[in-house]
Amino acid sequence: MKERQLSGIGMTSARTRERLIARLREAGVMNEAVLERIRSVPRHLFVDEALASRAYEDTALPIGFGQTISQPYIVALMTQALIEHVPGGGQPGKVLEIGTGCGYQTAVLAPLVRHVFSVERIQALRERAGKRLRALRINNVSLRHADGWHGWQSQAPFDGIIVTAAPTDIPAELLDQLADGGRLVIPAGRRGAQALLRVTREGNRMQREELALVSFVPLLEGTER
Ligand code: SAH
Repeated sequence: MKERQLSGIGMTSARTRERLIARLREAGVMNEAVLERIRSVPRHLFVDEALASRAYEDTALPIGFGQTISQPYIVALMTQALIEHVPGGGQPGKVLEIGTGCGYQTAVLAPLVRHVFSVERIQALRERAGKRLRALRINNVSLRHADGWHGWQSQAPFDGIIVTAAPTDIPAELLDQLADGGRLVIPAGRRGAQALLRVTREGNRMQREELALVSFVPLLEGTER
């Protein structure tokens, strides 16, 4: 990929990105590694060219198939919640992501953990996300076309699980695939009344924190082409 494409021009330039970073800081995102990822991942390459000029606004945008790329603040908040204060001080090892979408959250997260296993139920989105991640030379990611309600059993347990679509209740299979000390960051609840939760496994105890009120597309069942 050409340098000019990556760095962007006009509304996708460094100055526009700095304004977004300032906004996320004001909103309480403190993790410098996360802010650096938001600064350097070219979000304009994850949306339709017609929407590129809006890519560094702090807003969700359509990516087709009735789905959206999450708001940068939410991506930053979820990434921070997943990687901060990891027991032992290091970075999370294996992370499972449910809802690859356009791959933006995957790209922000990947260098901050050892490996991301990401599941998407719409095959066309999975394919496009794979192309973008390869073009950006993000290689510690495995993508899979499947129904994320069941997690990714053959790769479990995970040190972290991040879900970017909202179920009404937390799927039990995801909790089962969490390593001891691992954490699940997930929006849950009815439409219009969703909360972003962080659930940390301590042995057989699940410790639950509420991080924010949010509005995500629903976690659906089954797969689509
Ligand atoms: N993280 C994405 C956000 C995409 S929106 C991004 O940065 O672009 C949520 C995504 O979750 C959609 O792509 C949707 O197709 C997917 N999804 C919904 N239910 C799912 C399920 N059961 N399994 C896997 N993916 C699912």
